[in-house]
Amino acid sequence: MQNQALTQLVICGGGTAGWMSAAALSKMLQGRVQITLVESEEIGIVGVGEATIPMIRRFNQALEIDEDAFVKATQGTYKLGIEFVNWGRRGERYMHGFGRFGPELWGLPFEQYWQKLYQAGKARDLGDYMVTRVAAYRHRFMRARPDLQGSPLADMQSAFHFDASLYARFLRQYAEARGVRRVEGKVLRAERRGEGRHPDHIAALLMEDGRRVEGEFFVDCSGFRGLLIEQELKTGYDSWTDLLPCDRALAVPCASVESITPYTRATAHQAGWQWRIPLQHRTGNGHVYCSRYISDDEATAVLLANLDGEALADPRPLKFVTGMRRKVWNQNVVAIGLASGFMEPLESTSIHLIQTAIQRLVDFFPSRAFEPADIEEFNRQARWEWERIRDFIVLHYHLNQRDDSAFWKACAAMPVPATLKHRIALYESHGRIVRDGAELFAEVGWVQVLHGQNARARGYHPLVDLVPEEDIQAYLDNVQGVVAKCADFMPGHDAFLAEHCAAPR
Ligand SMILES: Cc1cc2nc3c(=O)[nH]c(=O)nc-3n(C[C@H](O)[C@H](O)[C@H](O)COP(=O)(O)OP(=O)(O)OC[C@H]3O[C@@H](n4cnc5c(N)ncnc54)[C@H](O)[C@@H]3O)c2cc1C
Repeated sequence: MQNQALTQLVICGGGTAGWMSAAALSKMLQGRVQITLVESEEIGIVGVGEATIPMIRRFNQALEIDEDAFVKATQGTYKLGIEFVNWGRRGERYMHGFGRFGPELWGLPFEQYWQKLYQAGKARDLGDYMVTRVAAYRHRFMRARPDLQGSPLADMQSAFHFDASLYARFLRQYAEARGVRRVEGKVLRAERRGEGRHPDHIAALLMEDGRRVEGEFFVDCSGFRGLLIEQELKTGYDSWTDLLPCDRALAVPCASVESITPYTRATAHQAGWQWRIPLQHRTGNGHVYCSRYISDDEATAVLLANLDGEALADPRPLKFVTGMRRKVWNQNVVAIGLASGFMEPLESTSIHLIQTAIQRLVDFFPSRAFEPADIEEFNRQARWEWERIRDFIVLHYHLNQRDDSAFWKACAAMPVPATLKHRIALYESHGRIVRDGAELFAEVGWVQVLHGQNARARGYHPLVDLVPEEDIQAYLDNVQGVVAKCADFMPGHDAFLAEHCAAPR
């Protein structure tokens, strides 16, 4: 069989998606494919303060990135979870912490035992049984210590907050050191092959100054505009605004406060919500809102009235339509990042979706034949992954009891996918959580958000009754005691940053 290997890959765009793709592919493909990245400094990147989830550690490990160097270079901080304020009812708060509760007992998860005692008024708040949630509220942090076998600290989960522009710069250095060629300039349009086996394939990017950047395979990381996947290939877009109606955001950095919180905060307002992402040199903030329910001026006023410190710039407006491309791989173009779709950052999933798209791209890396079955499977897996995350985000909006605004009432009343309804019903009967295959959010994530949004189980797993109640009580008390001691043992988050990864001021 003839050698069918591709040798030229072109990445269009150098934001988070472009440089993550360039860095990972330069490492994974080990120089066997020539990678060129085209970006325009004049156009710039979205680059709002970014929050991540623990899976980013796998990306860093695969690339053998030194964690201290990465946190320093990106003004990064650590993240143990996301605090949700005003989401069930106004004045309420809960945290979706990373990691797990206590260990399983006789084959059932901790949450089931907790359900029984909680319903009897004999258990503490769910958060008191998770080390990341307790540590986060006490502003404490340390990395997992695998040597502490049996302790929750052995596999404690954490992620990062970082400055997206600095992250792109950091990955650019990494990728260029591994042979990625960078081309500066504006792409005007694409040129099709016009002949041969794949006449509709893109053959080259045509630059504003007349240059041509040729490739066999293109990764579209051009952001919302989807230069190749949409403007050139007219792939089409599925909007999910009936489920996630927010369509605008305003982003603004502000001066940081003294103690840097090791968690993201998402505060619900009258027609949307505000993120707060603490970095070492500043705090990133943004108001995600629905323009049908609040004007841009009102949204700006809400944002500015809810900052920790002085605003360091004018709020930057962004418009979006939540949803995804009909196909994220079309012809010889794979879209990654905002070019592939938009999921609002409520659970900090966009960078994760970039990461999994890159892995999927490697798994289904095409030969010159561009087998349709590979492309179809790539698209099927991407859609499945996005839709599961979408439903988890919809849960936060739908399961609210707020009666103070038309927006929240509409979210509570909106029809939601049958699969989500089914999950809520399963929880409300016996506190059961069923993870759908290998979907991103596990049982422990679902239970925190379901309970945090005030879904209440009427019962619990019947097999819990096989364990005497005093044993369950002792088990819960033990978990809570261990968790509290672990939090005592950890240094403060500020002290940890100062010792290991203080960024230049
Ligand atoms: C309001 C908001 C908040 C977010 N918060 C988070 C968060 O907390 N956590 C998270 O995981 N994700 C978050 N995201 C998503 C995250 O910002 C993006 O997924 C990520 O930045 C990837 O962006 P991108 O690289 O796809 O696009 P961009 O950053 O827009 O980059 C596009 C690139 O394409 C280039 N380009 C475009 N057109 C041309 C052209 N004609 N010629 C040459 N180059 C071109 C640009 O120069 C740029 O380099 C958020 C997104 C938004 C909108």
